[in-house]
Amino acid sequence: MSRFAEPMARLIEELKKLPGIGGKTAQRLAFHILRSPAADAEALAAAVREVKASLRLCSLCNNITDIDPCVYCSSPTRNRRLVCVVEEPTNIATIEKTKHFHGVYHVLHGSISPVHGVGPEQLRVSNLTRRVENGEVDEVILATNPTVEGEATATYLSQQLRRAGLKLTRIAMGIPVGSDIEYTDEITMLKSIEGRREL
Ligand SMILES: [Zn+2]
Repeated sequence: MSRFAEPMARLIEELKKLPGIGGKTAQRLAFHILRSPAADAEALAAAVREVKASLRLCSLCNNITDIDPCVYCSSPTRNRRLVCVVEEPTNIATIEKTKHFHGVYHVLHGSISPVHGVGPEQLRVSNLTRRVENGEVDEVILATNPTVEGEATATYLSQQLRRAGLKLTRIAMGIPVGSDIEYTDEITMLKSIEGRREL
């Protein structure tokens, strides 16, 4: 039997389902919610409800959005013929921070991972394939992670999307800006040499 009152035990159980939240953290969060003003607890509950009720995936790019098409796909100032493919919606914010990308996105919601039983059929690719097949795209930038899964995904996509007239590019990988070659591991160094550019 739980040593907490039933509503408290239920809240702890629900919090424990969140990624990165173990039993101890779930208890701490539950007690924090219990002690906080009723208005704060209500606002949290309302925000959770709202996110499920109003957010969905953009029909063009799979970004999480409250309007369809999303802000990027519906923007008149963005180049829809340049598509940057990312694994997760959160990756978009990182690219946006550069303020130098003015194309649109495509979110896969994952990457190919045989170890975790994720195959190509589980990626959300069909709406990107359609855009490419309809001749709506000039360049696809594959910005999946520089991991085994991200590389496998990029290789798969380059095979699937290859068409005459379509430019397929992969983001550069190598030494982080501001770091020192002396402390760079050999794989990163190799990637840096492979990805060199002409000056
Ligand atoms: Zn979109």
